[in-house]
Amino acid sequence: MIIVIKNQSPEKQVNNLISWIESQGLRVHVSQGEYNTVIGLIGDTTRIDAELVSGLEIVENVTKISEPFKKANRKFHPEDTVIEAGGVKIGGGNFCVIAGPCSVESEDQILEIATSVKKSGALMLRGGAYKPRTSPYDFQGLKAEGIDLLMHAKNLTGMPIVTEIININHLPLFENVDIIQVGARNMQNFELLKELGRINKPILLKRGLANTMKELLMSAEYIMAGGNEQIILCERGIRTFETFTRNTLDLSAVPLLKDLTHLPVVVDPSHSTGISKLVEPMSLSAVACGADGLMIEVHNNPARALCDGAQSITLEQFKKLNGKVNKIISALKD
Ligand code: PEP
Ligand code: MN
Repeated sequence: MIIVIKNQSPEKQVNNLISWIESQGLRVHVSQGEYNTVIGLIGDTTRIDAELVSGLEIVENVTKISEPFKKANRKFHPEDTVIEAGGVKIGGGNFCVIAGPCSVESEDQILEIATSVKKSGALMLRGGAYKPRTSPYDFQGLKAEGIDLLMHAKNLTGMPIVTEIININHLPLFENVDIIQVGARNMQNFELLKELGRINKPILLKRGLANTMKELLMSAEYIMAGGNEQIILCERGIRTFETFTRNTLDLSAVPLLKDLTHLPVVVDPSHSTGISKLVEPMSLSAVACGADGLMIEVHNNPARALCDGAQSITLEQFKKLNGKVNKIISALKD
């Protein structure tokens, strides 16, 4: 249930209403917008008489929320959430390109890629240190050393870093990581999500290989329910019967999610296609349909990449792509 408070209502009366709701055993989520205050009620709202509340002098209207996601719901928080990490904003009109290799492979590799993508306009650096691989015989990442190398690249370029966590026991190693990624394979690792709900750091939550948008939002809700409301959603393609592409990029998820939630939505054109030449057209389409950002795999030598070379674009291709992305962003502003 959400209660919209009339503009310029006395603060004391609003606080009295909040205290009364809390005394009924419910939790509240207050969203202070430019024009309205919205009070979201979390818990069993059956004991609240909506008609009685509607009749209060300070109440504009009361709406029941039927969706199971509450804190992530745009009805709870009508304005776009802006996530800030390492001085970079994403959401609410702040477009952010996150670029970097699938995996951190060596100091030379990550530093060359980081300096180049930064020059081409990337605002954040990605790179896997812990890799969730389908085969146990494949490269599993440089682990703690990979995070150290990302830190080195961050110190050199000033770019905030995004890297994936696969085991909550590794959390202490992520202390200086700006955004922690939860990969597609862990989207419904609820114990991991609950732990990430207890920290104060942005989380980039990727849609699972076979998960619905509702399930993605419920996973975001798991993190938010614990108190961490800094979530960026990522559409990275879902598994369908199509085999030419690695996954099927569900671009319709972008405008739909942005309607359903206030959280920023980014698109990963690399894992969703698996084919480097599709990365540019899908990136441009993602911008055109309203994504708040892109997460792109870029490598200084894709043919020799230890992971996901076929979908990685070169430094030069990234530069060109980013120029076109900026043109679409400007065109949308006109
Ligand atoms: C990644 O971004 O490095 C990754 C493994 O992606 P996904 O979880 O979407 O497969
Ligand atoms: Mn990858």
